[in-house]
Amino acid sequence: MAIAVIGAGMAGLSAAQELLSAGKEVRLFDKGRGPGGRMSTRWVELNGQQVRFDHGAQYLTARSDQFQSVLEGWVESGVAAEWQAQIVDLDHHGQAKPRPKQKRYVGTPGMNGIIRHLASDLDVKWGMRVIDIQKTSGQWRLVFEDGRAEDGFEAVILAIPAEQLPPLTRQCAPEIAKVAERIQSEPCWTTLAVFKDRVPAEWQAARTSEGAVAWIANNASKPQRGDFEAWVLQASANWSRTHLEDDKDAITDACLRRFAI
Ligand SMILES: Cc1cc2nc3c(=O)[nH]c(=O)nc-3n(C[C@H](O)[C@H](O)[C@H](O)COP(=O)(O)OP(=O)(O)OC[C@H]3O[C@@H](n4cnc5c(N)ncnc54)[C@H](O)[C@@H]3O)c2cc1C
Repeated sequence: MAIAVIGAGMAGLSAAQELLSAGKEVRLFDKGRGPGGRMSTRWVELNGQQVRFDHGAQYLTARSDQFQSVLEGWVESGVAAEWQAQIVDLDHHGQAKPRPKQKRYVGTPGMNGIIRHLASDLDVKWGMRVIDIQKTSGQWRLVFEDGRAEDGFEAVILAIPAEQLPPLTRQCAPEIAKVAERIQSEPCWTTLAVFKDRVPAEWQAARTSEGAVAWIANNASKPQRGDFEAWVLQASANWSRTHLEDDKDAITDACLRRFAI
């Protein structure tokens, strides 16, 4: 019997890869149109060319030798590269203080390159949102938004954000629903900007602790991102929560104004 994995982001795909190497049959289902999850890459067309932005996860670092060798394997496979960026802390006067150097990696040609690679030898079905999980005669059954169902699973792994667990598990695994109900993810408003002229910054990315924006990155400084002056501005969790329901043009305005200082 196969094991079902709901969610084909970094967590679901890593779990599936482990199960596959242990000789298990695994099938993954994801509501997204393609690979990415919170490591997704957005693109827009400008002058007939694609401009790509990493709008979720910005880079990866390794805190163990094991993960370091996984990262190096991805580099060898051509789906990741080291991002040799100068990253600084910006104070409220705009003064930059370099952050300690460390090896930082990004997916290529976008963060989702890693997710696409992990998914490539797995049985993943995209565009399938699970709306119910049932257990009958010792087997698990998944029901999808479009009315279809798949059954006969030995186990189900849920690799989706905590807030999305309660409606799926309230009936079949109430103890999981109860834990998930106590978890709340932080929001993050993100502005994706392309400038006509080069931005005169001597660093590639910055963290700030004041005002709207908490993270600024020159997306174009990452490997294989093209020549456009493309920047990603991520607002702090506090600011995003306070402005959660604001109009997106007002958000863009506030973030760009902060960037201009
Ligand atoms: C703005 C932002 C910045 C970040 N920056 C960094 C960073 O710089 N470095 C870093 O290491 N991490 C960063 N992170 C965290 C990192 O992106 C996440 O920890 C990681 O990508 C989560 O992976 P996951 O597989 O757990 O979840 P996800 O990537 O969210 O994958 C879950 C998947 O489940 C699918 N799904 C959800 N519900 C259903 C359903 N009902 N049916 C079917 N499919 C479903 C979704 O489509 C999604 O693909 C950042 C996250 C965000 C949001």
